[in-house]
Amino acid sequence: MTQDPRIPEAEKPKAERRCPICGKPATETATPFCSKRCADVDLHRWLGGAYAVPAGDSDDELLPDEE
Ligand SMILES: [Zn+2]
Repeated sequence: MTQDPRIPEAEKPKAERRCPICGKPATETATPFCSKRCADVDLHRWLGGAYAVPAGDSDDELLPDEE
């Protein structure tokens, strides 16, 4: 077995991350967001955006050419 002489990374403050939703410092529990709430907001953004995307050429990708 090999021993790691280094201090656990968890003890160090990670590179400062900011919540992309509200700009507050992110927490470890909800990283990269500051809270579960903001994570939820981001998720809804994604879902909302997906629905907002108009059907276009990408439709072809959903229908693979079968022989
Ligand atoms: Zn936030």
